[in-house]
Amino acid sequence: MRRRNFKVRIFIALAVVAFAFIRNWSQRETNPYTGRVQAISLSPDQEIAIGLQSAPGMAQQHGGVHPNNQYQALVDDVGKKLINSSVAKETPYKYEFHLLADENTINAFALPGGQIFITYALFSKLENQDQLAGVLGHEIGHVLGKHSNERITDSKKWQTIVMGAGAIDMGSVAQQIGQGELLKNGRGDELESDELGVKFMIDAGYNPEEMIGVMEILKAAAGPNRVPEFQSTHPDPENRIEKIREAIRKYKNAP
Ligand SMILES: [Zn+2]
Repeated sequence: MRRRNFKVRIFIALAVVAFAFIRNWSQRETNPYTGRVQAISLSPDQEIAIGLQSAPGMAQQHGGVHPNNQYQALVDDVGKKLINSSVAKETPYKYEFHLLADENTINAFALPGGQIFITYALFSKLENQDQLAGVLGHEIGHVLGKHSNERITDSKKWQTIVMGAGAIDMGSVAQQIGQGELLKNGRGDELESDELGVKFMIDAGYNPEEMIGVMEILKAAAGPNRVPEFQSTHPDPENRIEKIREAIRKYKNAP
């Protein structure tokens, strides 16, 4: 009786895993802005809604919006220029650029659907508008790359698998695989966003070489004891610089 029970459990587990993979496969489509095939499960409207819903909380975590209207206006201007001169304008996304008051955390990030943030700590380290364009262009790249959408879809897949594997008590194994998968996507996302950022900079008339300046700033901020590349979700700035140089060569002479 017990033995049969075990077989039933394995069957259920395999069925759930198969379901998760088939559903994930059926969600695959070609991203119209990057040309890359990816599994996504949220519509642009849903992405925009999630972004708008999460934006106040994200701002709160970084001390709210920065009180200086002139700085905020500069962030808006550069952001709008990047949008209006690139394919980003042809998307259904609603872009908003927020300068956050946080003076300690050097960071910028994007929520799905077009909510984009830069902390004052990073903003104050930038040397020119081209570098600001580099940071914002990279973040716009995350939005067009639908990276959050992809991540959410992937984590739903692994949740389903973990649930199924729970029937044979292998949950933690599946979970670890899931985490590895998520990390791998994160690295690719960064490189894809760097490349898109370079393209948007060129489209909007900014100097794409300044994206390398941004990497130098990030490198200096991380200090000499930065974690080895393979341990980090973010690729080594040195590795990113190489890829950025490739992207500049690729897009600079393109029409
Ligand atoms: Zn990024």
